[in-house]
Amino acid sequence: MELTEEYKYMDVIHRCFRCGYCKFPQDWEDVDNCPSYARYRLESYSNGGRLWLIRAWIRGEIPWSEHLANIVYSCVACKNCEEKCPLSFAGDIVNMVVAARNLMVEQGLVAPPVKQYLEKVQLHGNPWGLGANKRKQWMGDLSVESYQGQDYLYFVGSEGAYDSRAQKATRALAEILQNAGVSFGVLGSEETDDGNEAELLGEDGLVEVLAEKNISKFNETGVKKIITLSPHAYNALKNIYPRFGGNFEVYHYTQLLAELLKAERFQAPKLDSVKITFHDPCFLGRWNNEYRAPRKVLQALGGTQLIEMGRNRESALCCGGGSANYFMDLLGGSPDSPARIRVRQARETGADILAVACPNCLTMLEDAVKVEGFESELIVKDISEILNEY
Ligand code: SF4
Ligand code: SF4
Repeated sequence: MELTEEYKYMDVIHRCFRCGYCKFPQDWEDVDNCPSYARYRLESYSNGGRLWLIRAWIRGEIPWSEHLANIVYSCVACKNCEEKCPLSFAGDIVNMVVAARNLMVEQGLVAPPVKQYLEKVQLHGNPWGLGANKRKQWMGDLSVESYQGQDYLYFVGSEGAYDSRAQKATRALAEILQNAGVSFGVLGSEETDDGNEAELLGEDGLVEVLAEKNISKFNETGVKKIITLSPHAYNALKNIYPRFGGNFEVYHYTQLLAELLKAERFQAPKLDSVKITFHDPCFLGRWNNEYRAPRKVLQALGGTQLIEMGRNRESALCCGGGSANYFMDLLGGSPDSPARIRVRQARETGADILAVACPNCLTMLEDAVKVEGFESELIVKDISEILNEY
């Protein structure tokens, strides 16, 4: 079958080209709000340019190349352009890119970093290629119950389980839940990758395998309610798993903590005159319209001032880590890397702490703070860590 017949957005894909409104909805600084365009400043890395290239490839006007694949995979699916686009097909823009990736994956035409990521997730259930027995490493000497019918399953996710920086946030959240008397358990080595990034990279078959594995474990153990550390896992479990018959009550942890604070199940600590700014994770904010819960939790802290960055909520700049780019780093290696731009925006607020609510943002932005040399003035912390450590 011709690619033009397989690609379901053929009738609208050309409409972005020469438009570019999403790059400048307010002022010239808006060009920074598309992570891939901010990084490369080439039209081919903007939404319209990328879709035009995809269209040309699908129509056979240009050949596939590794460079083309890298451009197609440099969109980190942050949905900033969808948020700003005034046209009727705005809600399908990321889908148009993902549909092109589906075709590339089907034909074995992905670039090496994507191939390696997908292979590791397929073979090992995580992009690090580490054994499932290491999924409990984050616990250290903390005793956490296995899931056996408690009120909530704490879904740790691959980053929370394997990334040494994210593990601290994973443990902090477990301690908070224990101290608040929340009944929860974990799947440990029985958990597998949530599949959110595999979906965005266009590997539908792998998404199905991962979702079905997790769903069957959830059903077998009687899971009804799930707390996730990561907004990426939250998105997968909430919005992708129903496609495979997995319907659960899913909470990002900030949503549960906001409820617990309201019910006075635990008290947020009092800090000593600390200024905090918050970075909205795309998969909580633009993907799931949750801007309130993390702010409710931060506002409950005593002795702090929450200062918003100019770019916040729907207009927040992505850290550049979506669509598995926290792992592949297709946008790194430059002062124009989105994570570096974002920490400069955070520093401009005069905040002492850059708070995040996502393990991917945590590692992306902490690395950027180091590269920018801001370590003595700006600390990056997950909200779970702020609540637990101070
Ligand atoms: S996403 Fe919308 S606003 Fe942006 S270039 Fe395409 S049509 Fe224009
Ligand atoms: S989804 Fe984000 S990275 Fe992708 S084109 Fe739109 S603004 Fe750029």
